[in-house]
Amino acid sequence: MNYPSGKPHIGDQEKKYVMEVLDSGVLALGPFIKRFEVEFAKKVGTKYAVSVSSGTAGLHIATMCAGLKPGDEVITTPFSFIASSNCILYVGAKPIFVDVDPVTYNIDPKEIEKHITKKTKAILVVHIFGQSADMKAIMKIAKKYKLKIIEDACESLMAENYGKNVGTFGESAVFAFYPNKQMTTGEGGMLVTDNKKIYELACSLRNQGRDFNPQWLDHKILGYNFRMDEMSAAVGLAQVEKIDWLISERQKLAALYDKHFAKYSDRIQLPLTGPGNNHTWFVYAILFKNKKVKRDEVINKLAKIGISTKPYLPSIHLFKFYKDLGWKKGDFPISERTSNSSLALPFYIGLKEEDVKQIVEKVVELA
Ligand SMILES: *Cc1c(COP(=O)(O)O)cnc(C)c1O
Repeated sequence: MNYPSGKPHIGDQEKKYVMEVLDSGVLALGPFIKRFEVEFAKKVGTKYAVSVSSGTAGLHIATMCAGLKPGDEVITTPFSFIASSNCILYVGAKPIFVDVDPVTYNIDPKEIEKHITKKTKAILVVHIFGQSADMKAIMKIAKKYKLKIIEDACESLMAENYGKNVGTFGESAVFAFYPNKQMTTGEGGMLVTDNKKIYELACSLRNQGRDFNPQWLDHKILGYNFRMDEMSAAVGLAQVEKIDWLISERQKLAALYDKHFAKYSDRIQLPLTGPGNNHTWFVYAILFKNKKVKRDEVINKLAKIGISTKPYLPSIHLFKFYKDLGWKKGDFPISERTSNSSLALPFYIGLKEEDVKQIVEKVVELA
C-alpha cells in the first residue's frame, strides 16, 4: 500500500496555462494574477481578491489592515494551524485563546463573550477542517461589542453557514493554496474583502508599499514582498475554474469513509457537521472511542504498512513560545483532548472505494 495523507489534483488545464505563462516570458506581475483574482472573488462572493505568496502572508496583511497594534487583544482559537495566531503576534497584538465546540472543533461563541475586555479589538475566526464556525452567534457578539472580524478560511474554501460563504462575514478573510488544501497554487494565498480601503492597503502591503496605482519605485509605506508569481496564478486559475468539481469529489470521498466506518460506530467517532453547515473537507479526521487506543502508536503502525495519517491538529497554546506567554496544559480541555486523539486519514481525489475500504479495515484493526 502507498497512501499519502493528501495530494493535489493537477489536470491538463493547469499545464496549458503554466505553459502559456512560460512561453509569454511574463513570469511576474502579469495577466494571470488579475484573471485568478477576478475569478476567485466571483466564486467566494466578495468585491475584491488580493493574491499573496502564502496563506500566512495573507493573514499577516489582514492583521495589519485591521490596524491591530501592541496592547490590542484578539480573541481566537487554539485548535488551528499555528499561522492563525502567529499573525496576531506579528503585529505585536495579543492572542486570547478560548476553547472550541466539540462537534465542529471551531471556536465556541459561548466562550468568547467571557473574555472580552476594554483591549479586545477583534475576533480572528478560523473555519477548521472544512466547515464554518458558528457565524450567526459570532457576528452578533462582534456587533454588540464593535469588534472586527477576520476570517482564517484557509481550510474551508466554499464552506457555507446557513447559505452564506465563509470569507464573506469578516472585514477581510484569507484562503490558502498549499498542495494539501481544497485547491492549490503550490505555495500561495488570497485575501478577500468588500472594503475598498482594505483592498488598496492590502495591494500596497504585498507589493513593497507601493502606491495602489504604482509609479514603479514610489514606496509610500513600509511594505513587504508577498506577491504571487504568474506560474502559481496560472495553476490557481485552472483550479478555481473547476472548484465545484474538486469540492464535490471531496464530498463523495467523505461519504465513502462514512459508509465504510458506519458499522464500527462503537469504536470510531466520525466527523460531525454543525448546524447550517455544509462541509468541504480539508481533512477527514476521526476519533477513537476507546480511551486506551494510543493515537500516535496507530499513526506509526499505519505508516509501516504505507498508510500516511496525521495528528491534526496540535493545540497552539502548548507550543513552547506560546507557553512562554503564559498558557499551559489544561487551559483548553476540548481543544487539547481533540489534539491528543484525532486522526486525519488519507484524503485526496483519486482514492477509490476499494482504497477507502482497505484503509478503514486497517484503521479499525487498531481501534
Ligand atoms: C494552511 C493554513 C494556513 C496558511 O498556510 P500557508 O502554508 O501559509 O499557506 C493558515 N491557517 C490555517 C488554519 C491553515 O490550515
